[in-house]
Amino acid sequence: MSESAMKVDAHAVSPPLPSAYGMSLSDWEEWLSERGQSKFRAKQVVEWIYRKRIASFDEMLNIAVPLREELKKTFSMELLPVSKISGSEDTTRKFLFRLEDGRYVETVMIPASVSFVGERSDRITLCVSSQVGCAYGCKFCASGLAGFTRNLTAGEIVSQVLTAERETGERVSNLVFMGMGEPMANLKQLTKALEILNGQWGVNIGARRITVSTSGLAPQIEKLAQVSMPVRLAISLHGATDEVRDRIMPINAKYNIDRLFQSLAVWKESKKQKITFEYILIDGINDDLEQARILAKRTRALRAKVNLIPYNTVEGLPWERPSEARMQAFQSVLREAGITATLRIEKGHDINAACGQLRLKEETSEGLIVSAAAS
Ligand code: SAH
Ligand code: SF4
Repeated sequence: MSESAMKVDAHAVSPPLPSAYGMSLSDWEEWLSERGQSKFRAKQVVEWIYRKRIASFDEMLNIAVPLREELKKTFSMELLPVSKISGSEDTTRKFLFRLEDGRYVETVMIPASVSFVGERSDRITLCVSSQVGCAYGCKFCASGLAGFTRNLTAGEIVSQVLTAERETGERVSNLVFMGMGEPMANLKQLTKALEILNGQWGVNIGARRITVSTSGLAPQIEKLAQVSMPVRLAISLHGATDEVRDRIMPINAKYNIDRLFQSLAVWKESKKQKITFEYILIDGINDDLEQARILAKRTRALRAKVNLIPYNTVEGLPWERPSEARMQAFQSVLREAGITATLRIEKGHDINAACGQLRLKEETSEGLIVSAAAS
């Protein structure tokens, strides 16, 4: 038997342990109470994991040795191994993580930057992935081109944050689900990860500093609206009419704009924060000023805001961003209608320019070649 075949066999006998980072406080309470432990023990466990950030169960000094041994046999405390970090100290950093099954995902860290009004902001935003690939096939998106492989587990989502923090020594203040994948299509793991990331006992990132971005899965938007966490919602709209959206986003055939807006009304009933519409400007595709006028109407009705994003070219796709003048004209229509609309032309400054267009291009026996459409 060849060496690699033997490795596969060994793997088959002992499947990987579930990640300790995919457990919420109540999951720990349940697991521990089944073993005759008090609730207080769960507090101690999460304190070690998230406050003290220990690397192994052996470090849980106030937990009795037999229980530590059982924890070790049941859960993994491995964070995601980092295959590559690109970027420099003071700019966007990209992490390539290798998952247990040999797949890869990316996470992007956008460190402290100078804000629009010129004052320093100490915000550190992390853009996390929710799936390997994406099944929704938007015509402009590199992640969509790659196709869908699998959902990430809550542990893998949480690990992206913990590893980025460990590698950089920084604390993430803001989180956006704008990396690879459609988070709403992985709702169960997303909700669990949100619970852990937001929990004061956990990673402790304020819900208002967490944004979930979706291409418009209406029923899932309605479900997440029921979760009592004031997270923010961003909608990748990219077209103000069904005609335009149908052309570039296959999801629109399933949930058209009216259906999508119905779900946004449900969202608004339970969440106070403004919804953001992400609108990529693509030359000759969705940059017509009539689209801007319709977008203005729809945005006003919801009291939402608009984030205009110049399209970043994707290898293999023919599209380009409109001229600067054209993009500014589009923004002016919105502004004149009283809509808050941002347009960030600087390349790589905007979070959406940094993620959402990464494609895992080619897998080889040596590893993986990643092509970032824009950096
Ligand atoms: N699937 C979710 C989450 C991914 S977010 C969603 O679509 O919302 C990734 C963001 O980057 C989305 O707003 C997406 O529309 C945007 N994006 C994709 N391709 C892009 C490109 N070539 N240039 C600029 N933004 C792009
Ligand atoms: Fe998937 Fe979002 Fe890309 Fe569409 S824009 S293909 S939903 S990741």
